[in-house]
Amino acid sequence: MAKVMAVNAGSSTLKYKLFEMPEGKVLCSGMADRIGHDDGIFKIKYDGKEEKITLPLPDHSKAVELLLEALTKYGVVKSLEEIKCVGHRVVQGGKYFSHSVDFDEEAAKKIDSLTPLDPLHAPAHLTGWRAFEKALPGVPEIAVFDTAFHQTMEPEDYLFPIPYELTEKYDCRRYGAHGTSHQYLSIKGQEDFLQGYEHTRIISCHLGSGSSLAAIKDGKCVATSMGLTPLGGVMMGTRTGDLDPSVMEYLCTCTGQSVEEMYNIFNKKSGFLGVSGLSNDTRDVEDAALKGDERCLNAVKLFARRVADYIGQYFVRLGGADLIIFSAGIGENSGYFRRLILKDVEEALGLKIDYEKNEPLRGKEELISLPDSKIKVAVIPTDEEYMIALDCYKRIKDAA
Ligand code: AMP
Repeated sequence: MAKVMAVNAGSSTLKYKLFEMPEGKVLCSGMADRIGHDDGIFKIKYDGKEEKITLPLPDHSKAVELLLEALTKYGVVKSLEEIKCVGHRVVQGGKYFSHSVDFDEEAAKKIDSLTPLDPLHAPAHLTGWRAFEKALPGVPEIAVFDTAFHQTMEPEDYLFPIPYELTEKYDCRRYGAHGTSHQYLSIKGQEDFLQGYEHTRIISCHLGSGSSLAAIKDGKCVATSMGLTPLGGVMMGTRTGDLDPSVMEYLCTCTGQSVEEMYNIFNKKSGFLGVSGLSNDTRDVEDAALKGDERCLNAVKLFARRVADYIGQYFVRLGGADLIIFSAGIGENSGYFRRLILKDVEEALGLKIDYEKNEPLRGKEELISLPDSKIKVAVIPTDEEYMIALDCYKRIKDAA
């Protein structure tokens, strides 16, 4: 048995979960929020209890210090020596990483060189890593990349049709994201719903504030919807998803805004928020759409159509499908969105859905297709942190 820590460091947050492996028991979880502010917040959940402290959190090092203090203070561990590995979620691994690696100086240098592709997260990942390195010297740390699972795509699935010199010189291609989630869902989907299948074809729909789909053949990703960055693919909470590239130039000319300003609008003010004019939270948009708000209804239908389009595309890409999975905030919790999406594809794909079962289903693993459906359809809650913990455990075993 070994205790391992899964860490997700953002620009002003640090989320964590401590696992007992190999059984995957969560010993504690929580986050440090508003890092860099005088009114920082530190939260920890353990053993059915919850603590919340407000205090100055000048940087990630302070957050890590607080977390490690809390572990012994609340008796989650007797000694910090019990922690055998720390796994860090890293959003962008570029062309360098097709699996998790030791988070050392060499990996840090490569992650740093990828900052132009992910200016928001890369510096935070490095800061988080250094903070743990300082606090737990000698404890192995690994980097688990959100892009790694997608590195099995073939050139025709990841290349953009731009001059090849630009692709080569600037590594400008599709990398995808949410790979840790799609990998978890494909493993869980195979284990729980496709036992005995010699070959498996899975369409995995991670639909949350960020959304992406992946086509997975025999456990390997062959296509995914996000692109160079998480801006591509289906429409999201505040992101556009795929756009005709001329929209950028046209709107910059019309509004007099710079490419940078427009890029910010595409990332932070579009998607559900932009179309509905109300909120990036799909619960609000769903409620308003059900009350007849036209813009909210448009947003809801637009999202469902884009997801349905990708399902159709991946059905063809995989030469059929055995399982469609819905996951993340929207996919796990909203029977309304699942119904809208499935209604769009059910006739073409020969799906038979138990809509009565689908509608109230929230946050629970369950099959929602009927036995005579040509493809199984399931809701599976995702667990990216568990996937990170599994890689940590593998790292410990490999070193033993
Ligand atoms: P995630 O990024 O996976 O944490 O998903 C968060 C998002 O899921 C929220 O911003 C909501 O838009 C959405 N969400 C969560 N619960 C529901 C629900 N019951 N109905 C519709 N959308 C939901």
